[in-house]
Amino acid sequence: MLRISYCLIILIFLNSCSEQVAPVESRTIILGFDGMDPNLTEKWMAQGLLPNFSKLAKQGSYQRLGTSNPALSPVAWSSFATGTNPGEHGIFDFIRRDTKTYAPDFSITEIKPPKDTLNLFGFHIPLDEGEVINRRHGKPFWMEIEEKGQTASVLRVPVSFPPDPIHRMLSGMGVPDLLGTQGTYTLITSQFINGNDMGGRVQRIRANNGLVDTQLEGPQHPMKPDAGTLKLPLTIKKAKNESVTITLDDIKFRLKKNQWSSWVPLEFKFAGVMGVAGMVRFYLVESFPRISLYVSPINFNPIDPAMQISSPVEYSAELASRIGLYHTLGMPEETWSLNENRIPDSAYIQMVKHILAERVAMFFDTLDKTDSDLVIAVFVQTDRISHMFWRGIDDKHPLHIKTSKQAQNAILWIYQEADRILGKTLNKMLPNDKLLVLSDHGFSSFRRAVNLNRWLVDNGYLFLNENATESSMLFTDVDWSKSKAYALGMNGIFINRIGRESLGIVDKQEAIAIKNELLEKLSNIIDPRNSKPIITRTYDGKQVYKGLQTADAPDIVVGYAPSYRASWETVLGAVPKELIYDNNTKWSGDHAIDPSHVPGILFTSFKPKENIKSIQDFQLLLNISGQDQ
Ligand SMILES: [Zn+2]
Repeated sequence: MLRISYCLIILIFLNSCSEQVAPVESRTIILGFDGMDPNLTEKWMAQGLLPNFSKLAKQGSYQRLGTSNPALSPVAWSSFATGTNPGEHGIFDFIRRDTKTYAPDFSITEIKPPKDTLNLFGFHIPLDEGEVINRRHGKPFWMEIEEKGQTASVLRVPVSFPPDPIHRMLSGMGVPDLLGTQGTYTLITSQFINGNDMGGRVQRIRANNGLVDTQLEGPQHPMKPDAGTLKLPLTIKKAKNESVTITLDDIKFRLKKNQWSSWVPLEFKFAGVMGVAGMVRFYLVESFPRISLYVSPINFNPIDPAMQISSPVEYSAELASRIGLYHTLGMPEETWSLNENRIPDSAYIQMVKHILAERVAMFFDTLDKTDSDLVIAVFVQTDRISHMFWRGIDDKHPLHIKTSKQAQNAILWIYQEADRILGKTLNKMLPNDKLLVLSDHGFSSFRRAVNLNRWLVDNGYLFLNENATESSMLFTDVDWSKSKAYALGMNGIFINRIGRESLGIVDKQEAIAIKNELLEKLSNIIDPRNSKPIITRTYDGKQVYKGLQTADAPDIVVGYAPSYRASWETVLGAVPKELIYDNNTKWSGDHAIDPSHVPGILFTSFKPKENIKSIQDFQLLLNISGQDQ
C-alpha cells in the first residue's frame, strides 16, 4: 500500500511539474509569410532593403520554392502540413461544388448543426454541440512530432480549424465569425448606396438631429429558428470635431473620424439567461450629417469563444490575458470592405498594422517560453497587402494612375515588417535552434478578369436557358440538360458527368474527349487587346492529382498567364456578357495563375542536404517523412 501511494504522490508531483515544462535544448522554428514573392524579395534584398533576409540567406540558404497546383493558400498550406498533394489532402481551392445543386461551398471547414434537439416551449434546445470538420485529410507533421514525444506550438497556420490536440495551437483560416460566415462586415450609413455588397451588409439608416437609433444584428437565435436574428441596441450621437459617441448595449465610447475603435466586447442574450459572446471594432468613415460607420465582422471573443479555437481550450483566453484581445476570425483582414470602397486605403493599412501587432505579440509570447521543440507561425499580412495594393507597384494596372503614395509603398512596407519580425526572431534564437522561413506562393498583377463560363457558352459547352443571354451567380440561368462543362472556383473546370453531377449528361467516353478538346482549346484563347494567350497551360486533373480524395478535384486546372485571373463571377458560377474585362477593383494582385509563374521563397539557417522542389517536399528538411513523396 505504502509503495502505491508513494508512486501516486510522485505521479501527482510530476504532473504538476509538467505545467512548467523545462526549456527544450533545441527548437525548429518555422516562420511563414503568406504570398511573399521571390521577384520582390530578391530585388529588395539586392537593394539592401531586407537586411535580415539577406543575412539569413548568407548564413544558411535561400531558394525559390515551388507552390501547389493551383497556387492558393489553403491548397499550398495543406501540402505543407501533410506532405501530400491535393489528391491526398482533399483541398483543391477555396471553393468546392455541391454536385447535387452545382452551388459553390466553402472547401476548408464544414460546420454541422447539432443532430439532436429537444423541442420544448417553442425552443429548439440542442442536445449535442454539433460538429466542426476540417476538410483537409491526412496527418499534419506537428501531430507526428508530438507522437514521437516532442512538443509543438502551431499558431495561425491556414486550414487548422478545429485545432489539433497538441501542446499549443491557435487556429487560423477556417475559423468563422459569429454569424458562421468567413467574415461579414456591417456598414451603417445614411448615404445612398447602390447595389449589393459581396463581403458584407449595408444598413441604411436615417439620422435625426445628429442621432441614430438602430441595432446591430447578430447570429440567428440558436434555439428559435423562426425568431430571426439576435440584436443589440446601438446609438450613434453627434459629438464635437467630427466625432461621435457610440453606445452599444451598455458600452459607451467616443470615436473620431478616420479612426478605429479598440475591441468592443458584446454579448447577444437569448432565452433569458443564455448568451453568446463576440467582439467588434468600429471605424468612423464619415461623421454627421452624412454618417457612415463601419462595423467589423463579429469575431469570437478569445476569452469566451463560441467554438473551440485553441488547444488546449483555455489557451485562447490565457493568451488574451497576456497580450490583450486579438482577431480570432480565420481571415480577419477585411479585403472586401476595401474592395467595395466601404473603408479607405488608410483604414485598411491601419487595420493590417493592428492585426500584425497582435500576431507578433502571440508569436513572441510562445517563442519566449522555450517549451516547444517545434514552433510554427504563419503571418498572412504579406498576402493581404499584396492583393490589395499591387496597383501601387504595377504601372500597367488600370488603377495605378489613381493610386496614392501610401498605397504605392504598402507592399515594401509589409516586406520590411516581415524583415523586422525575422530580425527579432534571429535575436531570440538559442544556439542549437534551426530556423526555416517560407512562403506558400508568389504574386502577380491582376489586370484583366476572365469570364471563363462566357467562353464555355460561346463555344457550345455550357448552355443558358431559352431567352437568357447571361446568368447570375450560382448558375441561375444555366440549362443543365444541355451543358457539358462549367467553370467554378479560382482555377477549376468540371465536366457535367452522368452519375456524378445530379443533372449530368456526359458519359465516361465522351468526358475524355471533351476534356482533351478543352485542354487544347483553352490554351489558345487570345486576349483581343494584345493578341496574347490568356492561359499559359492547362492541367488534366487526373494527371496532377493522385490519392483517395480526388472526388472534389476539378477535371481541368486552368493555369492563367500573369496579369490574368478568373473573374469573381466565374469563381461563383456566373455568366456575364463579355469574355475579358479590365479589373478596376482594388483587389489588384493575385496568384491564382499557372503555378510555374508564382513560386514561393524558402530560407534556412543551415545548409540543407536535401533538394527541396516544392512546398509539398518541405518536411524533408525536418527529418520526418511525408505521406506520398
Ligand atoms: Zn492570397
